[in-house]
Amino acid sequence: MTLQPVPDRAAVDPIHLFVPKFRVPECLAEITDCLEKGWTGLGYKTIAFEDAWKKYTGFPHAHFTASATAGLHLALTLLKEAGSWADGDEIITTPLTFVSTNHAILHSRLRPVFADVDDYLCLDPESILDRISSRTRGVMFVGLGGNVGQLDRILKISRDRNLRVILDAAHMAGTRVRGVQAGLEADVTVFSFQAVKNLPTADSGMVCFSERSLDEAVRKWSWLGINKDTYTRTKSTGAYRWRYDVEQVGFKYHGNSIMAALGLVGLRYLDEDNGYRRRLAAHYDSLLSVVHQVSLVKMAPECQPSRHLYQLLAEDRDELMSYLNDHDIYPGVHYNENTAYRMYPSSEAACPKARHASEHLISLPLHLKMLERDAQRVAQTVAEFCGARVGHA
Ligand SMILES: *Cc1c(COP(=O)(O)O)cnc(C)c1O
Repeated sequence: MTLQPVPDRAAVDPIHLFVPKFRVPECLAEITDCLEKGWTGLGYKTIAFEDAWKKYTGFPHAHFTASATAGLHLALTLLKEAGSWADGDEIITTPLTFVSTNHAILHSRLRPVFADVDDYLCLDPESILDRISSRTRGVMFVGLGGNVGQLDRILKISRDRNLRVILDAAHMAGTRVRGVQAGLEADVTVFSFQAVKNLPTADSGMVCFSERSLDEAVRKWSWLGINKDTYTRTKSTGAYRWRYDVEQVGFKYHGNSIMAALGLVGLRYLDEDNGYRRRLAAHYDSLLSVVHQVSLVKMAPECQPSRHLYQLLAEDRDELMSYLNDHDIYPGVHYNENTAYRMYPSSEAACPKARHASEHLISLPLHLKMLERDAQRVAQTVAEFCGARVGHA
């Protein structure tokens, strides 16, 4: 019997927010390598993926982790140690993000100081300037939806004041600015390859330090503080290759070869996939720009975004969400403004633009199994709700 490749089935009905696409035969071939070699853990494919990632992005260093959350915690732990920061020192950050971003600051016993967002829904440089104090040590920038916002200005502000820049690039795999991967100038950039990100595995991430010494340190910190990984030990010879030392109370945060196998395949298609996302986004733009009841969140002019998200603001957001659900369309919200969560004292809320966005944002379905006509149907339904009309493609 010959097996025919199954053609990708277009999502006709319903239309979901995110549907990851895996090149299954290629993924299975990479995973088979791991199983046949008997090597599923740290080393082997994790190193191959780190090398491929450095080559693709241009980062000098990259360390593969169990998740971006782990990568962010490592990033802050190491910067804190390298800079001898005290507990309670401050990181200026955005409230409009997934909880991981700010949890990582708190896990590192630093204090998140919330600044407001700009029209790109990324940190506003003016608001950052307003929040800088004698205890500020760094700025945490989130490239929401793959947008680069005003990162350039923020890098300059930070450099002039000797502040570290941590880039939460969970949405930015393949985002380019003037042809170059975004984030190369940050002190540390952290990517996510979680199950529904634009380069999906199941759970994993990449932490890219600009300094070699921090990259060397993070490899120990992510493996419980052990100063020699198994792969290196296997390759060394002699009776003492089992020996290792433990330098500090590290974490169990490194990635494994099965996840790296999926990442290696996804990376081969990242540019093509992001290009498809941008085409769908452009289609949404052209259809929705005539619907004056909604306002579209713009990408920064010099940014070629990954387009992890397509976001707009709507006056009656909750009603629009229900209306779309009634029509078998399932959008999302990215994000609830974090200071609205019970874990933060109510005095934290001083970011009116983030608060407004949190109440009006909606992310339309955008994924690789959608066709232009699916985007047409979504836009049409949004327009219908608004009492407007969109042209037929
Ligand atoms: C998904 C996400 C994370 C966390 O990524 P994980 O790999 O799931 O830990 C962090 N920040 C942002 C903005 C995210 O969207």
